[in-house]
Amino acid sequence: MTAIDSLPPLREVIASHGLSARKSLGQNFLLDLNLTAKIARQAGDLSECDVLEIGPGPGGLTRGLLSEGARRVVAVEKDSRCLPALEEIAAAYPGRLEILQGDALEIDPLQHLTPPIRVAANLPYNVGTELLVRWLTPKDWPPYWQSLTLMFQREVAERIVAAPGSKAYGRLAILSQWRSEARIVLSLPPGAFTPPPKVSSAVIHVTALPEPRFPADPQVLSRVVAAAFNQRRKMLRAALKGVAPDIEDRLMAAGIKPTDRAETVSLEAFCALARAVAAG
Ligand code: SAM
Repeated sequence: MTAIDSLPPLREVIASHGLSARKSLGQNFLLDLNLTAKIARQAGDLSECDVLEIGPGPGGLTRGLLSEGARRVVAVEKDSRCLPALEEIAAAYPGRLEILQGDALEIDPLQHLTPPIRVAANLPYNVGTELLVRWLTPKDWPPYWQSLTLMFQREVAERIVAAPGSKAYGRLAILSQWRSEARIVLSLPPGAFTPPPKVSSAVIHVTALPEPRFPADPQVLSRVVAAAFNQRRKMLRAALKGVAPDIEDRLMAAGIKPTDRAETVSLEAFCALARAVAAG
């Protein structure tokens, strides 16, 4: 399928609906429909899926998702100025686009979606990171979503896929890699957006694994990793002092040297440590 639809070019849509970009809402729009179709294709075969899109704005990625064959798209947008433009897309794709107006951090869109569900979004960085953490830490696993295809600042995308030993390695890498597979699938220069942001961007694709790679209690793992990386330059025996009084023994039980720093500890070793801490 192609990105061609019967709707006007996005520049016209933005002009006719007065959608000047607002910095406070992190609005950097994608206007090239070939590019938004390319991003939509990174989300996989959408023909049997409902897609949850967060922050559709004037609808560039929405149009990409629909023209690439998404069964249905449910789009959550905070800025009410975008609704008329989105309604025009809904009219061009009857029964396939539902628009929910509100803050994605507050709305629960689940009742509007039928599985299988994939998520796609080009979001402001702070909202995107918060939502990513929520998507990665649901109460039950596997989660309701099969995959997440998300635009981030390049630097954040690198933190998501980082390996031990690199500066980018931290809580986001552990959360993203423990029960999921995370990859950078596209890189975009600032000029791909209107207006251009200051930094480069990247699209990550995350697929949920049926089981965690290594067993661990999610809450204990989360607590250990947060404490370890909160003071990432300290030795683990100091950084984790508050986690358990006999933390040195537990580190050793997990095969980790108490003098190591969080940055060098593998995901597998963090899971072993979470088990050693949970063993009480
Ligand atoms: N998806 C469009 C595109 O690619 O051109 C717009 C991307 S723009 C970077 C981010 C969009 O997210 C804007 O439309 C903005 O209004 C919306 N947004 C910002 N914060 C939001 C929130 N908390 N909930 C829902 N949408 C939000």
